[in-house]
Amino acid sequence: MKITLLGTGSPLPSATCAGPSTLVQAGGQNIVVDAGRGVIMRLVGAGCPPPFIAAVFLTHLHSDHICDLNDIITTRWISTPAATALPIYGPKGTKRMVDGILSMLTQDETYRLDHHDDLRAAGGMKVDVREVEAGETFSIGDVAISVHATDHRPVAPTVGFRIEHEGVVAALAGDTIPCEGLYDMCKDADVYVQTVLREDLVRTFAPLVPTGDRFLDILDYHSTVQQAGQTAAKCNVKTLLLTHFVPAIQPGQEEEWRAMAAEHFSGEIVVGPDLTFVEK
Ligand SMILES: [Zn+2]
Ligand SMILES: [Zn+2]
Repeated sequence: MKITLLGTGSPLPSATCAGPSTLVQAGGQNIVVDAGRGVIMRLVGAGCPPPFIAAVFLTHLHSDHICDLNDIITTRWISTPAATALPIYGPKGTKRMVDGILSMLTQDETYRLDHHDDLRAAGGMKVDVREVEAGETFSIGDVAISVHATDHRPVAPTVGFRIEHEGVVAALAGDTIPCEGLYDMCKDADVYVQTVLREDLVRTFAPLVPTGDRFLDILDYHSTVQQAGQTAAKCNVKTLLLTHFVPAIQPGQEEEWRAMAAEHFSGEIVVGPDLTFVEK
């Protein structure tokens, strides 16, 4: 199993970090978890062009995690010889959100259907949306997935995905504070991917920006780097993979972030730029 951070950014724009998205490759399946800013560019960078995407999983519907889903839908459709419906798994509300995207893309779809005989013969842009909730299990090929509740309130429902293939387990949390659902999902995982923020930097920067109070609000519902380390230790995971850096990580700062998680977790901690990956 190979887990690649396609984008390590957050809603805060960064010249170097694409938006949150992670690629899980196992059993010949390419599963994209979340679809943030620049996801298609990073997929190509990871050697996984759009026709090879097996499914998209969404942890929640915050804009930074879905804003380039439309690009996945369109680009996969127009670059696949005979496109099958794109499976999209996400929490309640995903259908409505995807319907909105499809509505937005109606004119583009019409242009392309009018122009290309083979696309017209194959039918239009197709998606297969499945709303999932905590406790559900399903599979993509021979990759087994279970869905777990996370806590990103007031955003709800939010979910994480435990992905297993040939005994190797990856737990992908999305945005959440530590909670029982997260602990269940991460138990004994080989890789735990957690979106994180630096509370010290958020508190330092908040007074310096015009939206400072709004910036402070984000402390309510994200794991800090230290909390990610605590969860990793509590759940006995082997490798902690940090992502969704708030604020964007600066080159050379990686060791500082790693050290904060290492205060609580003695296993492997991976902190790196977009396209950093671990293989198990
Ligand atoms: Zn986020
Ligand atoms: Zn969020």
